[in-house]
Amino acid sequence: MITMTFSARPAAFLVGAAFALTSLAACSTPAGTPTSPGASTPGAAQTEQLSVAVAFYPFQFVAERVGGDLVTVENLTAPGAEPHDLELAPQQVALLSSADLVVFQEGFQPAVDAALAQANAQRTVDAASFLKLIPATVDDGHGHGEEAGHDEDGDHDEEAHEDEHEEGGLDPHTWLDPTNLATVAEHVRDALIDARPEAAETLKVNTDLLLNDLGVLDGEFKAGLANCQIHAFITSHAAFGYLAHRYDLEQVGIRGVEPDVEPTAARIAEVHEIAKAEGVTTIFFETLVSPVVSESIAGDLGLKTDVLDPLEGLTPESRGNDYLEVMRSNLASLRTANQCG
Ligand SMILES: [Zn+2]
Repeated sequence: MITMTFSARPAAFLVGAAFALTSLAACSTPAGTPTSPGASTPGAAQTEQLSVAVAFYPFQFVAERVGGDLVTVENLTAPGAEPHDLELAPQQVALLSSADLVVFQEGFQPAVDAALAQANAQRTVDAASFLKLIPATVDDGHGHGEEAGHDEDGDHDEEAHEDEHEEGGLDPHTWLDPTNLATVAEHVRDALIDARPEAAETLKVNTDLLLNDLGVLDGEFKAGLANCQIHAFITSHAAFGYLAHRYDLEQVGIRGVEPDVEPTAARIAEVHEIAKAEGVTTIFFETLVSPVVSESIAGDLGLKTDVLDPLEGLTPESRGNDYLEVMRSNLASLRTANQCG
């Protein structure tokens, strides 16, 4: 394959590649061993797309918006797959070394962390290295509703959640706060400018457009969730901690932050009690996790079900074609369920 490298490995620097990366299969050759040295024309390096590997969908959305025509983006998590327990194929592991940029979040997908530890990645953007991760919590449903846990910027007051049970780890679902995704976009922009300095202007314009879209979305969430009759929302797995913190709602996850750990009977009984105490109207489920438990709880209590999508992947069933559309669908679902004015 043709690899544009920008590290100090002269043998890997191939000028004038005339064709772009088109498939993962093309990346199965280790970086620095080009297999088609003849296909070059002068100046064509300027138009070759940068290769970006992203760990899961929201980072794909960011890389495609920031990079535009300048990048080819490969999502390590296949569409419709659940990213927490991702396993990597050998050619995906090779891609981590050959790509111009890898965008991931350490601590979310063990397979990606492990592969990157072995890879010779050329550039990485690790969202966990600059975002403020919050503790994973299992809400016990007590003592909430009147707390003023946010300052004007939506930053969270640690004391407001001292009555939640921490699971011990950190909540990885950073991207469900649009302002976090905006910060990721700025880091992706800077990394791509490092890879292709002559495209800096385009990359800045693309990023500014994305930051504007995310800012508008954030404003819609703030306004749309500012005046709700019901404070709590019950989700299939606890993916919405960042969203709840930013917009001052209370997430109750039937499962914890890992979607594949089935809830105990005791937890389900607890969720029943919370649902009654908080007066919730709706039990949410999501597109990539079985809805059976959510449907069962809703059936027992005579409540509705609806989708609240943690955007861990897009499928044909997703309520929207990109991050912004699915988030707006989430907002509409929350406004209905929580009776927001
Ligand atoms: Zn999750």
